[in-house]
Amino acid sequence: MSTTAIISGAGPAGLAAACLLAQDGISCAVIAPEFKPDPRTTALMQPSMQMLKFIGVWNDELKAVCAPLKQLHLIDDTGNLVTAPKIQFSSTEMNLEEFGWNVPLARLVPALRARAEALGVTFIASISVSAHADEHKIIVQTEAGENYEAKILLAADGADSALRKSLGIGTENWSFDQSALATSFSHSASHQSVSTEYHKLAGPFTTVPLPGNRSSLVWMDRPARIEALLQMSDAELAIEIQLETKGSLGRISDIGTRKAFPMRGQRATTFASQRCMVVGEAAHVLPPIGAQGLNLSLRDAAQAVDLIIGAEDPGIESILKEYNALRRADVVPRQQIVNLMNQSLLSSFPAFALARSAGLSAIANIAPLRNLAMTQGLAPSANLPFAMRG
Ligand SMILES: Cc1cc2nc3c(=O)[nH]c(=O)nc-3n(C[C@H](O)[C@H](O)[C@H](O)COP(=O)(O)OP(=O)(O)OC[C@H]3O[C@@H](n4cnc5c(N)ncnc54)[C@H](O)[C@@H]3O)c2cc1C
Repeated sequence: MSTTAIISGAGPAGLAAACLLAQDGISCAVIAPEFKPDPRTTALMQPSMQMLKFIGVWNDELKAVCAPLKQLHLIDDTGNLVTAPKIQFSSTEMNLEEFGWNVPLARLVPALRARAEALGVTFIASISVSAHADEHKIIVQTEAGENYEAKILLAADGADSALRKSLGIGTENWSFDQSALATSFSHSASHQSVSTEYHKLAGPFTTVPLPGNRSSLVWMDRPARIEALLQMSDAELAIEIQLETKGSLGRISDIGTRKAFPMRGQRATTFASQRCMVVGEAAHVLPPIGAQGLNLSLRDAAQAVDLIIGAEDPGIESILKEYNALRRADVVPRQQIVNLMNQSLLSSFPAFALARSAGLSAIANIAPLRNLAMTQGLAPSANLPFAMRG
């Protein structure tokens, strides 16, 4: 079988790319194993939401399980001698009704898949094992031994991407002595559409609003502590969450599915090579601080599609080079900021704590810096892909 594009991986990034391509009449096939529900929710900022609208998946059904993010609060809960002031960002400061929405992956991924199927995308239920490119095409081989041919491949097959490895694209890796617990819970007080990131000594603890009196939680901590939290009864975990939130959300109950994720950083040495664009976590992995991961991945998908649409041969060197340059300019500085923020919490060096506190104080008090932090938190100011412009 031959199509213009093959996408390996049906996570949110691969599926979003498939929808965008099919919407523009570009033939594409997605190679992916069976969908496994994921308990995570993701805070998607305005440009990503714009893309969901553009694709046509932002409907009442999806909206009913998501919640708007109207305020973002950062609280220094390190207990250090020098602490940063509380920072409160409000979407009204940017004339926005909300910064974005908290979207459950277990609902987003099936919605994207249904849309891709309705748009005529071909789905191949398998796993890609290898890829081989020549001057005119790329051939992807599946686990079943079948070959699929295209002009361009989008490797969106996750952090351990088999196709990235098969094409000999290396990665830079770094690890953190941390894990993250993802879950959700109910609370007796209203969250008032506020997402709160508590900066603690072993990493951030972030609550993100869900519909009604419910929130999702990403709790980063030392691996042994996360393991202990996983083993606790619901009642015990509820007490721990109530303590960490200092009672600000009232009484905690009804803990949702829990899943732990080891924290690591990773970046592909190139984001494009041999008729392949590397997309989403196959290209970059970063800790869940400041809701950057999937927002970056969706920008990868939309940027790849912008370059593929209208190109006679989207696999040529100049297009691959442009994709690599555009995506690195967005990804690399964001990974650096997230790493710095995380390291400054973990480091026992007082100078780090002082620098973090000074930086956050400046953001809290200097208007242009506040604005810069808010706009850059949403998306880069330049080169926003077409589907995200609104
Ligand atoms: C705890 C936590 C909280 C997070 N919160 C946020 C947030 O609030 N906001 C945000 O923007 N980001 C967040 N992120 C990051 C975000 O969840 C990820 O960036 C995103 O899920 C990555 O999507 P993806 O499509 O690139 O990869 P994946 O979701 O990993 O999808 C890859 C797909 O490829 C498939 N696959 C694997 N191997 C193969 C193969 N060989 N062949 C074919 N298919 C294959 C897999 O089955 C999977 O479906 C969070 C991450 C964590 C860990």
